[in-house]
Amino acid sequence: MLTATSATDLYEIMRESLSRVVPDFELRYKAELAFRINELKKTRKAVILGHNYMEPALYHSIPDFTGDSLELCRKAAATDADIIVYCGVRFMAETAKILNPTKTVLIPSPRAGCSLAESISAADVRDLKARFPGVPVVTYVNTYAEVKAESDVCCTSGNAAKVVGSLDSERVIFLPDEYLARNVARETGRRIIFPTRTPRTRDGAELDYQMVGWMGRCEVHEKFSARDIADVRRQFPDVVVLAHPECSPEVVAASDFSGSTAAMIDYVKRTHAARYLLLTECSMGDNIAAANPAKEMVRLCSVRCPHMNEITLEQTLAALEQTRYVVDVPEDVQRRARRAVERMIEIG
Ligand code: SF4
Repeated sequence: MLTATSATDLYEIMRESLSRVVPDFELRYKAELAFRINELKKTRKAVILGHNYMEPALYHSIPDFTGDSLELCRKAAATDADIIVYCGVRFMAETAKILNPTKTVLIPSPRAGCSLAESISAADVRDLKARFPGVPVVTYVNTYAEVKAESDVCCTSGNAAKVVGSLDSERVIFLPDEYLARNVARETGRRIIFPTRTPRTRDGAELDYQMVGWMGRCEVHEKFSARDIADVRRQFPDVVVLAHPECSPEVVAASDFSGSTAAMIDYVKRTHAARYLLLTECSMGDNIAAANPAKEMVRLCSVRCPHMNEITLEQTLAALEQTRYVVDVPEDVQRRARRAVERMIEIG
């Protein structure tokens, strides 16, 4: 978190890392808002968690902690603040609530949803469990609390293969991201089926599978193609390509590295290529560019997640001023979902 004694002071600090990615007039305006938020945060005894996909000015000014879903889960579990303001999308704020049932959790915009989380319901999971009895359910954290509550364990893109491997089960149900499931299946050498696509066998023969997937997609990562990578490589033969595991297996195969947002940030920090192409949400490219001024980020995208984009400094200020929007999860759902989330955190 930045410590500044005035809005001008904060502007100067932000300018050091953001002058190449945020226009100056915007930076001045945002520094004022960020200073007010940071002052209010102290009086309200609040902590702000900022996902890696937050826009650069917000990301570099108000969060006490930044990171991917897994890192922020751990921070949420350890905080002693009265209020948690989650600058991310709803399923993330729900996870913070699940881990902190007695605390007030706020999300700055009620419209910060997620195409992936919307793709599956608790009833869908119950149907799958009935169809594949006894097969453990691994659920990506990018799901709503009711879906987590039906699961044995959660995972993130950073630990998905490890969680699957930890189950000591020949078969797993892995929900809901189709591409992450395909990438994990390939990494762990498992044959995957998609029941919404794969018909039941008519002759009663058992389906040959080790993983059961679902056809959910992230509306951001599904947009990248192997053709995009080939085009960029033609222009910049020395570019190093990093893809998020929510991209298609073809994109992941054509890339030089695939990992969670935290793993991508770490990769750029510890390697020394002249250029990088990041196949993930746009703002993260800006945030990495700000942190690594000597390295060039090739900008392929204008692919901003519309849900993450709902979270602004203005909305965050209003959240703290008006204690809005409170994230609630029914108690029995919390209790069942907590088991799955805590199990994931234990696995690491
Ligand atoms: S980037 Fe994709 S997975 Fe993340 S919140 Fe947006 S739609 Fe959901």
